[in-house]
Amino acid sequence: MSRDLNELYQSVILDHNKTPRNFHELPPPASHADGHNPLCGDRLTVWVDVEDDTVKDVAFLGNGCAISKASASLMTAAVKGKSRADAMALADEFQKLVTGKLEGAAERKALGKLQALAGVSEYPVRVKCASLAWHTLKAALAGAPAEPITTE
Ligand code: ZN
Repeated sequence: MSRDLNELYQSVILDHNKTPRNFHELPPPASHADGHNPLCGDRLTVWVDVEDDTVKDVAFLGNGCAISKASASLMTAAVKGKSRADAMALADEFQKLVTGKLEGAAERKALGKLQALAGVSEYPVRVKCASLAWHTLKAALAGAPAEPITTE
């Protein structure tokens, strides 16, 4: 990765950590799920409001490291307005990105600002921080589970 691009990505992460987007609860009938990453201590709750199979609104609250918070913020911005199926597909693409399995420039480009988190693929412990919000989103989309989602 070029140095300029790396700096741009760093600034995206810092920005979303400092000023997280959609950082609030959603009232019922939005469904929610809790996520926990015991390795780092990240905890978050993701709310989704799905109407006509479209993610009408999505929000989160939680405490954790800069990566987990920035990733959750970027996630909410990325999936709002998408169909449930597209949101699920994006979660899979994101997982490939942060585990270094996303090949092809076009596939990467399609992820937009989410590419800012590509660097975590070099740090296995950080992959769980980055993917926590997406695992929790999938659980919330599937309906609230009885147990919190954990990365373990
Ligand atoms: Zn973390």
